[in-house]
Amino acid sequence: MTVHHQISDEYLTDYAAGNLAEAFNLAVASHVSLCPESRARLDEIEAVGGAVLEHCETASMPAGSLEATLALIAAGPPAAAAPPPAGHCTVLPQPVRDYVGGDISAVRWRPVGMGVKQAILSTSDEATARLLYIPAGCEMPDHGHRGLEMTLVLQGAFLDGEDRFARGDLEVADDDVSHMPVADEGEDCICLAVTEGPLKFSGLLPRLVQPFLKI
Ligand code: ZN
Repeated sequence: MTVHHQISDEYLTDYAAGNLAEAFNLAVASHVSLCPESRARLDEIEAVGGAVLEHCETASMPAGSLEATLALIAAGPPAAAAPPPAGHCTVLPQPVRDYVGGDISAVRWRPVGMGVKQAILSTSDEATARLLYIPAGCEMPDHGHRGLEMTLVLQGAFLDGEDRFARGDLEVADDDVSHMPVADEGEDCICLAVTEGPLKFSGLLPRLVQPFLKI
């Protein structure tokens, strides 16, 4: 699989440095899990970050810090959703499966209208992460943004102007971008969409339902 729309070094660096909100971390971790080239760039950025830290002056730590850190390491990571059986084809990348508690069949969809469904994932409230299910050929309402928006395609594809985004591709939009993505004909499109603030819809109907959908 070739991923054509990759994350920028700027956002990879923010991710490596822990500067992104939880919902954006989820989008970046999921994109990296589907895109070997972004994974390789992230490894390089983390190596540079590690080298920089080694040359920093040391700071004094409260008594017991080392013991507390070692205890956290010994406890291991929190329980994750069980990996799928070998050879099983999954729609959701592992970071998203950990939030859903399983693959696509475990998602609790809620209808949004026009056949579109969404499932909001539970993250810190600085940004909102949602899975979107968009029927093939369906146009999303024309909208602008308040802050950052990252959209990662997990199934199918969508067109945005001249650009086509398919599985693993990440589209990044911000206050300067207004767009109307359209799902490809042929296959329903599933995306992970992360937004910082409410979208700015130009149509009246989307604006009316917006508060109920938390979009
Ligand atoms: Zn958008």
